Amino acid sequence: MLLKPLDTKLAFSSNNNNNSTSAALWKSNADIKFNNTTNNTTNNTHTISHNYTAKSNSINLNLKQQPLRDYSINDFEIGRKLGKGKFGKVYCVRDKKTGYVCALKVMEKEELTHFKVEKQFRREVEIQSNLRHPNVLRLFGYFHDSKRVYLILEYVIHGELYGFLKKKGRFDDALASHYIYQMILALSYLHKKHIIHRDIKPENILLGFDNIIKLSDFGWSVHAPSLKRSTMCGTLDYLSPEMIESKDHNEKVDIWALGILMYELLVGNPPFEEGCQQTTYRRIARVDLKIPQFLQPDAVDLIKRLLRYDPTKRISLSDAQNHPWILRNKKYWPKPNKSNPM
Ligand code: ATP
Ligand code: MG
Repeated sequence: MLLKPLDTKLAFSSNNNNNSTSAALWKSNADIKFNNTTNNTTNNTHTISHNYTAKSNSINLNLKQQPLRDYSINDFEIGRKLGKGKFGKVYCVRDKKTGYVCALKVMEKEELTHFKVEKQFRREVEIQSNLRHPNVLRLFGYFHDSKRVYLILEYVIHGELYGFLKKKGRFDDALASHYIYQMILALSYLHKKHIIHRDIKPENILLGFDNIIKLSDFGWSVHAPSLKRSTMCGTLDYLSPEMIESKDHNEKVDIWALGILMYELLVGNPPFEEGCQQTTYRRIARVDLKIPQFLQPDAVDLIKRLLRYDPTKRISLSDAQNHPWILRNKKYWPKPNKSNPM
């Protein structure tokens, strides 16, 4: 099976996937060699170094989603390393047949079993591969060999929103509202499909061309027809009161996290951040918000409507989409600039 141009067009419609852009990507600093594959191409000069002596493919993938059977690592030219997650490295790769640039997340099977995250991995693949939205990172498919599992992902040029936020310190209302609006669209799409993301944070949002953001990392998300769960998950600063109190929770945890995200984008750090976890927990449970003077009243209003202790009192996504802070800032949103969106 080929990565069809149709599929990749969907992914790259906002990403200028032409040769000049790709040229820079191929200044490979990849430390990867897939030495368990028979790759005869001259490009394969990379070495992967890992501490595991994986000898089996005993990991039970047991996925409803079928692997891309005909795909192997030999179908890709490996470009630069884009980043490293908890379980795997991500490389910029090019499909040799079609020339399309994708991101390839490479995970050691033994690492997934060792850390008992197969379930999380399965969830990520099954949920993400069925999603099609401009603000949700596309997963085209996966394949595996004896040692590794590979996820073929849409490539997003500027990487994590977190890095951009750290560089700028904080965003102005125009930029922050532009990102929050796109998050509202992404979450509305997910919630309509009864999917709760549960791990919203700037590290899990990727920044593409024209300030288009893509929500990624579906490892913690659940497809929950009942929309009710009680597993504690997510990042500490973004946890909702009902999650830290181990109560049942539903899609409203994402609305809470959106409020934390909005605060972090405008202020530079999340609202309940503390050196000690217990203090953060306490502040979350009390919704102990400290509002800096420089925040605009309409921004404060939306933050407070998102960060309600009682999940049923939180603003809905459709009301958030039409909140005065969003509407007032819409006209200032950055215009598409194909050459340099940053
Ligand atoms: P964690 O749970 O720590 O976030 P992870 O295993 O989910 O780790 P990823 O977030 O998937 O790992 O990837 C690690 C890094 O690779 C990201 O932080 C990002 O910088 C980069 N990256 C991941 N996916 C892409 C992509 N599709 N396009 C561009 N860069 C990417
Ligand atoms: Mg990540």
